[in-house]
Amino acid sequence: MTDGPTVAFGYRQRSMEDWRQSGCLYVEFWCLACPHMVRVHIEKLIGKVGTSTPFVDLARKARCSACGRRGCHVQPAEPPKPEHRDYTLWLLAEIARQRDFILQAEMALRDRGD
Ligand SMILES: [Zn+2]
Repeated sequence: MTDGPTVAFGYRQRSMEDWRQSGCLYVEFWCLACPHMVRVHIEKLIGKVGTSTPFVDLARKARCSACGRRGCHVQPAEPPKPEHRDYTLWLLAEIARQRDFILQAEMALRDRGD
């Protein structure tokens, strides 16, 4: 459960944990100097940099493995397609996340008395 209803990939997402809680499974690193892009599983990335690392820090520190330039664009990858090996895992996590959202949103509505 999160601290309250959140939106997916909105402006509130600032760290690795924010993106993981928003359902992000892979993170893309796009080089600013060449066409090279790398897609990294979010758990692998969190294992390397921790949960609280801001994305702007990742973007500043990443180095392109093709051309060697430091600095890149970082973004969440699209969700896995049905034929991808992680699709079932992602779908189960999304169902749980959406259930949490609905429960929290209903509690928030009750608290408001609307
Ligand atoms: Zn590059």
